[in-house]
Amino acid sequence: MSETNNGSQPTSNDIFQTLIDHHSRLKYFLPGSEAPTDAAHVPHPYNRPSYDQMYMAIAEIVALRSTCLRGRVGAVITKDTRIISIGYNGAPSKIGQCDQYGCIIDSEKGGCIRTIHAEQNAIAYASRIGIPIENATIYVTVSPCIDCAKLIIASGIKRLVYLQEYRNSYALEYLELSGLEVEQLNYGLSAIYNEYCGQEASECQ
Ligand SMILES: [Zn+2]
Ligand SMILES: [Zn+2]
Repeated sequence: MSETNNGSQPTSNDIFQTLIDHHSRLKYFLPGSEAPTDAAHVPHPYNRPSYDQMYMAIAEIVALRSTCLRGRVGAVITKDTRIISIGYNGAPSKIGQCDQYGCIIDSEKGGCIRTIHAEQNAIAYASRIGIPIENATIYVTVSPCIDCAKLIIASGIKRLVYLQEYRNSYALEYLELSGLEVEQLNYGLSAIYNEYCGQEASECQ
Protein backbone atom coordinates (compact mmCIF):
# COMPACT_ATOMS: atom_id res chain seq x y z
CA MET A 1 0.00 0.00 0.00
CA SER A 2 1.36 3.37 -0.98
CA GLU A 3 -0.65 5.87 1.02
CA THR A 4 -2.55 5.78 4.24
CA ASN A 5 -5.05 8.17 5.76
CA ASN A 6 -3.26 9.64 8.79
CA GLY A 7 -1.23 6.49 8.95
CA SER A 8 -4.07 4.23 10.08
CA GLN A 9 -7.05 3.64 7.79
CA PRO A 10 -6.29 2.48 4.22
CA THR A 11 -7.51 4.85 1.53
CA SER A 12 -9.67 3.75 -1.37
CA ASN A 13 -6.56 3.91 -3.53
CA ASP A 14 -4.82 1.51 -1.19
CA ILE A 15 -7.69 -0.95 -1.37
CA PHE A 16 -7.88 -0.69 -5.14
CA GLN A 17 -4.13 -1.22 -5.48
CA THR A 18 -4.38 -4.30 -3.29
CA LEU A 19 -7.13 -5.68 -5.48
CA ILE A 20 -4.99 -5.09 -8.55
CA ASP A 21 -2.05 -6.84 -6.93
CA HIS A 22 -4.11 -9.90 -6.17
CA HIS A 23 -6.31 -9.91 -9.25
CA SER A 24 -4.20 -8.69 -12.11
CA ARG A 25 -7.08 -8.93 -14.55
CA LEU A 26 -8.73 -5.95 -12.87
CA LYS A 27 -6.16 -3.66 -14.46
CA TYR A 28 -8.06 -3.98 -17.71
CA PHE A 29 -11.00 -2.19 -16.12
CA LEU A 30 -9.03 0.74 -14.74
CA PRO A 31 -9.65 4.11 -16.42
CA GLY A 32 -6.95 4.77 -18.98
CA SER A 33 -5.54 1.27 -18.86
CA GLU A 34 -4.49 -0.49 -22.02
CA ALA A 35 -6.70 -3.26 -23.29
CA PRO A 36 -5.13 -6.65 -23.99
CA THR A 37 -3.33 -6.54 -27.31
CA ASP A 38 -3.53 -10.20 -28.22
CA ALA A 39 -5.60 -13.26 -27.39
CA ALA A 40 -2.95 -14.64 -25.04
CA HIS A 41 -3.68 -11.82 -22.62
CA VAL A 42 -7.43 -12.12 -22.71
CA PRO A 43 -8.59 -13.91 -19.57
CA HIS A 44 -10.76 -17.00 -20.10
CA PRO A 45 -11.55 -16.70 -23.82
CA TYR A 46 -14.54 -19.01 -23.57
CA ASN A 47 -16.45 -20.15 -26.58
CA ARG A 48 -20.06 -19.23 -25.76
CA PRO A 49 -23.44 -19.96 -27.33
CA SER A 50 -25.34 -16.95 -28.66
CA TYR A 51 -28.53 -15.86 -26.90
CA ASP A 52 -30.56 -17.44 -29.72
CA GLN A 53 -28.71 -20.74 -29.38
CA MET A 54 -29.01 -20.75 -25.59
CA TYR A 55 -32.72 -19.94 -25.50
CA MET A 56 -33.57 -22.49 -28.18
CA ALA A 57 -31.77 -25.16 -26.15
CA ILE A 58 -33.74 -24.07 -23.08
CA ALA A 59 -36.98 -24.26 -25.10
CA GLU A 60 -36.11 -27.88 -25.93
CA ILE A 61 -35.66 -28.63 -22.24
CA VAL A 62 -38.99 -26.93 -21.46
CA ALA A 63 -40.61 -29.14 -24.12
CA LEU A 64 -39.65 -32.21 -22.10
CA ARG A 65 -42.33 -31.22 -19.56
CA SER A 66 -45.03 -31.81 -22.18
CA THR A 67 -47.53 -34.62 -21.66
CA CYS A 68 -49.03 -34.77 -25.17
CA LEU A 69 -48.44 -37.99 -27.08
CA ARG A 70 -48.70 -36.13 -30.41
CA GLY A 71 -45.46 -34.30 -29.76
CA ARG A 72 -43.63 -32.21 -27.20
CA VAL A 73 -43.31 -28.49 -27.84
CA GLY A 74 -41.54 -25.86 -25.75
CA ALA A 75 -41.66 -22.06 -25.85
CA VAL A 76 -39.49 -19.42 -24.20
CA ILE A 77 -40.34 -15.71 -24.30
CA THR A 78 -37.46 -13.27 -23.79
CA LYS A 79 -37.10 -9.53 -23.62
CA ASP A 80 -33.87 -7.56 -23.39
CA THR A 81 -31.96 -10.87 -23.41
CA ARG A 82 -33.78 -12.22 -20.34
CA ILE A 83 -36.43 -14.95 -20.01
CA ILE A 84 -39.82 -13.55 -19.01
CA SER A 85 -42.03 -16.62 -19.55
CA ILE A 86 -41.99 -20.26 -20.62
CA GLY A 87 -44.65 -22.75 -21.75
CA TYR A 88 -45.11 -26.29 -23.04
CA ASN A 89 -48.11 -28.11 -24.48
CA GLY A 90 -50.19 -29.78 -21.84
CA ALA A 91 -53.76 -29.98 -20.58
CA PRO A 92 -55.18 -27.99 -17.67
CA SER A 93 -54.71 -30.06 -14.52
CA LYS A 94 -58.45 -30.72 -14.04
CA ILE A 95 -58.87 -31.86 -17.64
CA GLY A 96 -56.31 -34.66 -17.32
CA GLN A 97 -53.13 -35.21 -19.30
CA CYS A 98 -52.72 -37.00 -22.63
CA ASP A 99 -50.11 -39.41 -21.27
CA GLN A 100 -52.68 -40.61 -18.71
CA TYR A 101 -55.96 -40.42 -20.64
CA GLY A 102 -54.87 -40.26 -24.27
CA CYS A 103 -54.97 -37.46 -26.81
CA ILE A 104 -58.29 -36.12 -28.13
CA ILE A 105 -57.81 -35.73 -31.85
CA ASP A 106 -59.63 -33.08 -33.85
CA SER A 107 -61.12 -35.03 -36.76
CA GLU A 108 -60.91 -32.01 -39.10
CA LYS A 109 -57.54 -30.44 -38.25
CA GLY A 110 -55.78 -33.54 -36.96
CA GLY A 111 -54.23 -31.97 -33.87
CA CYS A 112 -54.74 -32.84 -30.20
CA ILE A 113 -57.39 -30.60 -28.64
CA ARG A 114 -56.88 -31.75 -25.04
CA THR A 115 -53.82 -29.53 -24.63
CA ILE A 116 -53.12 -25.83 -24.37
CA HIS A 117 -50.27 -25.13 -26.77
CA ALA A 118 -46.81 -24.09 -25.59
CA GLU A 119 -47.08 -20.57 -27.04
CA GLN A 120 -50.54 -20.10 -25.48
CA ASN A 121 -49.29 -21.20 -22.08
CA ALA A 122 -46.24 -18.92 -22.26
CA ILE A 123 -48.25 -15.85 -23.33
CA ALA A 124 -51.05 -16.53 -20.85
CA TYR A 125 -48.62 -16.88 -17.95
CA ALA A 126 -47.04 -13.51 -18.75
CA SER A 127 -50.53 -12.02 -18.84
CA ARG A 128 -51.53 -13.70 -15.59
CA ILE A 129 -48.66 -12.17 -13.61
CA GLY A 130 -48.63 -8.86 -15.48
CA ILE A 131 -45.42 -9.06 -17.52
CA PRO A 132 -45.64 -6.97 -20.71
CA ILE A 133 -44.45 -8.89 -23.78
CA GLU A 134 -44.65 -6.06 -26.30
CA ASN A 135 -41.66 -6.32 -28.67
CA ALA A 136 -40.53 -9.58 -27.04
CA THR A 137 -38.96 -12.58 -28.79
CA ILE A 138 -40.49 -16.06 -28.64
CA TYR A 139 -38.43 -19.22 -29.16
CA VAL A 140 -40.42 -22.31 -30.14
CA THR A 141 -39.17 -25.82 -30.80
CA VAL A 142 -41.84 -26.27 -33.49
CA SER A 143 -43.23 -23.44 -35.61
CA PRO A 144 -46.69 -22.35 -34.42
CA CYS A 145 -50.10 -23.49 -35.64
CA ILE A 146 -52.29 -20.80 -37.18
CA ASP A 147 -54.19 -20.17 -33.92
CA CYS A 148 -50.97 -19.64 -31.96
CA ALA A 149 -49.59 -17.46 -34.77
CA LYS A 150 -52.59 -15.16 -34.41
CA LEU A 151 -52.17 -15.03 -30.63
CA ILE A 152 -48.45 -14.24 -30.99
CA ILE A 153 -49.25 -11.37 -33.35
CA ALA A 154 -52.00 -10.00 -31.10
CA SER A 155 -49.74 -10.20 -28.02
CA GLY A 156 -47.25 -7.72 -29.49
CA ILE A 157 -44.37 -10.18 -29.81
CA LYS A 158 -42.13 -8.94 -32.61
CA ARG A 159 -39.74 -11.80 -33.31
CA LEU A 160 -40.18 -15.57 -33.58
CA VAL A 161 -37.36 -18.09 -33.73
CA TYR A 162 -38.24 -21.73 -34.42
CA LEU A 163 -36.32 -24.97 -34.66
CA GLN A 164 -38.52 -27.37 -36.66
CA GLU A 165 -41.23 -26.48 -39.14
CA TYR A 166 -44.79 -27.52 -38.32
CA ARG A 167 -46.78 -29.41 -40.96
CA ASN A 168 -48.87 -26.30 -41.71
CA SER A 169 -46.21 -23.82 -42.81
CA TYR A 170 -48.76 -21.19 -43.89
CA ALA A 171 -48.78 -19.97 -40.28
CA LEU A 172 -45.19 -18.78 -40.85
CA GLU A 173 -46.29 -16.81 -43.91
CA TYR A 174 -49.13 -15.34 -41.86
CA LEU A 175 -46.64 -14.20 -39.21
CA GLU A 176 -44.29 -12.65 -41.76
CA LEU A 177 -47.11 -10.87 -43.58
CA SER A 178 -48.14 -9.44 -40.23
CA GLY A 179 -44.72 -7.84 -39.80
CA LEU A 180 -43.04 -10.26 -37.40
CA GLU A 181 -39.40 -11.11 -37.83
CA VAL A 182 -39.37 -14.89 -38.36
CA GLU A 183 -36.22 -16.95 -38.32
CA GLN A 184 -35.39 -20.66 -38.34
CA LEU A 185 -32.45 -21.67 -36.16
CA ASN A 186 -30.79 -25.00 -36.85
CA TYR A 187 -29.06 -25.10 -33.52
CA GLY A 188 -30.59 -26.53 -30.37
CA LEU A 189 -29.90 -28.67 -27.35
CA SER A 190 -28.07 -31.46 -29.19
CA ALA A 191 -25.80 -28.91 -30.88
CA ILE A 192 -25.08 -27.28 -27.51
CA TYR A 193 -24.23 -30.68 -26.08
CA ASN A 194 -21.99 -31.64 -28.99
CA GLU A 195 -20.15 -28.35 -28.96
CA TYR A 196 -19.68 -27.94 -25.24
CA CYS A 197 -20.16 -31.30 -23.53
CA GLY A 198 -20.03 -34.07 -26.11
CA GLN A 199 -17.28 -36.30 -27.37
CA GLU A 200 -16.10 -33.67 -29.81
CA ALA A 201 -15.47 -31.21 -26.99
CA SER A 202 -12.24 -31.68 -25.06
CA GLU A 203 -14.10 -31.08 -21.82
CA CYS A 204 -17.45 -29.83 -20.64
CA GLN A 205 -16.83 -26.17 -19.90
ZN1 LIG B 1 -52.37 -34.79 -26.72
ZN1 LIG C 1 -50.62 -23.78 -31.51
